[in-house]
Amino acid sequence: MSGLTGKVAVVTGGAQGIGAATVRRLEEEGATVAVVDLDARKRSDAVHAYDCDVTDLAAVEEVFARIVADLGGLDILVNNAGITRDNLLFKMSKDDWDSVLSVNLSGVFHCCKAAQKYMTAQRSGKIVSLSSRSALGNRGQANYAAAKAGIQAFTATLAIELGPFNVNVNAVAPGYIATAMTAATAARVGADPEEHQRTAAERIPLHRVGRPEEVASVIAFLVGDDASYVSGQTLYINGGAR
Ligand code: NDP
Repeated sequence: MSGLTGKVAVVTGGAQGIGAATVRRLEEEGATVAVVDLDARKRSDAVHAYDCDVTDLAAVEEVFARIVADLGGLDILVNNAGITRDNLLFKMSKDDWDSVLSVNLSGVFHCCKAAQKYMTAQRSGKIVSLSSRSALGNRGQANYAAAKAGIQAFTATLAIELGPFNVNVNAVAPGYIATAMTAATAARVGADPEEHQRTAAERIPLHRVGRPEEVASVIAFLVGDDASYVSGQTLYINGGAR
């Protein structure tokens, strides 16, 4: 019997990249996993797929209620859906700002708000949200950095509020992970994705970029029993980079 047998998990943005790797990992550990994404069937082998835009609170509340009805509960929430709209401040449009804050930060608020009522009622739950190394500051990412730093403050606060209900709330902050998101970043600067990764790797002490599975394994640790006394933390997954 694996560590997460009998648990129901929701992974937002779970149709690809880090989210899809997390879905696979949690399923391997025995969890029943609902993929929530704009197009959840992008990943054809998703067993429990729910289309939902995390920027819409009413839609999130409706889909979480459906998941609880379909799968019998909600024990684990992984807030992974995210987007980038990179630009230097003087070129960053209001729409670039609003859309990144809306998906990356308000989306986390919406999903936590929808999940907490089930978790507090059952007196148990685990929440992990995807922050980023960019929360410490990154040129061209003022919107994204602000949202990801906001997730860290939100996480610390929710850990205080939900701790008395036996709900652990943590964040992970990956560095450069090879996904469609970082391939799009490379394309924006006119670089070949592999060349972009090689250049990035030169500044990383482990001398390579990360894989989605290397984030998924840390998320699996944080939602499992081995991390039962860990809450309010942000764990960096960045190969030693600063
Ligand atoms: P991807 O772009 O590969 O995957 C993100 C997923 O989220 C996509 O399936 C996307 O759908 C979905 N999504 C976007 N907007 C919404 C929305 N409004 N509602 C529901 N789902 C949505 O990203 P990664 O796997 O690279 O990143 C996953 C998370 O990890 C993000 O939060 C990201 O910020 C964070 N992160 C990633 C790093 C990296 O180096 N890759 C580093 C640090 C943090 P669609 O494709 O249709 O837009």
